[in-house]
Amino acid sequence: MSCLFCKIINKEMPADIILEDDKFICFRDISPKARVHLLILPKKHIESALDIQEQDKELIGELFLFAKKVAIEQKVVDKGYKLLFNVGKGAGQVVDHIHLHLLSK
Ligand code: 5GP
Ligand code: ZN
Repeated sequence: MSCLFCKIINKEMPADIILEDDKFICFRDISPKARVHLLILPKKHIESALDIQEQDKELIGELFLFAKKVAIEQKVVDKGYKLLFNVGKGAGQVVDHIHLHLLSK
């Protein structure tokens, strides 16, 4: 598997991991666009939000619960934060493993 984020998940590549469980991982973006810039993703390799299938709907729901846990633990709830998927190259998606950006001040 040549996917960069799968390599991070499999600990074949280093990352600053913030939170992890059996299904999801959160680590710091290597090139932050905000003071807090985290990437949150399912360990299952799904290429983009456009590739979510019917069988993934529970997993994607759980992804948002995991993102909520990250936001609380990282203390960005009071400041507010953005959750964002880039979908497709035209929108700036460069890593083809679905990931939420969590951005905050
Ligand atoms: P995309 O543009 O695909 O929505 O988001 C990919 C993000 O991954 C970018 O914000 C980019 O800075 C980040 N990124 C790219 N390579 C690495 C890496 O090797 N490690 C980490 N932690 N982030 C990366
Ligand atoms: Zn992957």
